[in-house]
Amino acid sequence: MIESYIKSGKLTSKIRDEASKMIKDGTLVIDLVEYVENEILKSGAQIAFPCNVSLNEVAAHYTSPLGDETVIHAGDMVKLDLGAMVDGYIADTAVTIIAAGNIDENYTQDEINLHEEIVEASAAGLEAAIATVRAGIEVSKIGAAVHEAISEYKLNPIFNLTGHSLEQNNLHAGISIPNYDNHDNYVLDEGQAIAIEPFATNGEGIVNDSPGHYIFSYLANKPFRMKNTQRVLKYIQNNHRFVPFSGRWITNEFGERKGNIALKQLSDAMAIYPYAPLREKQDCFVSQKEHTVIVEKEGCTVTTI
Ligand code: MN
Ligand code: MN
Repeated sequence: MIESYIKSGKLTSKIRDEASKMIKDGTLVIDLVEYVENEILKSGAQIAFPCNVSLNEVAAHYTSPLGDETVIHAGDMVKLDLGAMVDGYIADTAVTIIAAGNIDENYTQDEINLHEEIVEASAAGLEAAIATVRAGIEVSKIGAAVHEAISEYKLNPIFNLTGHSLEQNNLHAGISIPNYDNHDNYVLDEGQAIAIEPFATNGEGIVNDSPGHYIFSYLANKPFRMKNTQRVLKYIQNNHRFVPFSGRWITNEFGERKGNIALKQLSDAMAIYPYAPLREKQDCFVSQKEHTVIVEKEGCTVTTI
């Protein structure tokens, strides 16, 4: 089990670092997400969730739909969040990169300076969190460490986003790792795997749903009249029963029109859960940094370093 966590961690960190080099002016978001997903599959691992590439005010839960024309511009704050699994043991890691290139058309130097601090703050939050992790610690103490580190930058964490425990084939296994002291006195055990993911912003630190659904999770079997919807549900049950999947994978398989009709019907009937992209309430920029760690007696091992 530990070996599989280490294996998926190493692999994911290598792909994260390679893909980060693609984050520059003119890169299509869809090229980035497809590069990441293909690299995971080529390595013989499985995709733990669609590669998320969330820009600027969007904190999380964006991945490209089929034919996505979204382009990265110089100076954009790009969150790359990816996950792979080996034998079902998941590595979940994210990094934020300010896209390279000539920023003049899009941002002032003052804005870029602020954005660099926002990126630094989530990294400092993660570092502080990792330094507190050991068996016997309450999860609220990890949150307190994140909040304190980000506050030093006069910035806020995103209060309504959390890290999470991981179990075999289970990305969000029930325990939340907060980004502030939420008074949750759940105590971590030796051997537990958790993903810690501080977000930082110059805004209020709340995210809300924004339009569109690009990522989904299977929920339950339901009856459908339309043959096409039945077929798509069967396909999801066979291929994506345990971890989140991309709408793009469904439209690739069934065609754009048929795929999207089925995804809508399945969501409406609660056979699948649609995730909305999460946008900062005051439209302020958001950074994120995430590692997966295994809790140990005196500390932890970061699998995605
Ligand atoms: Mn993640
Ligand atoms: Mn995560």
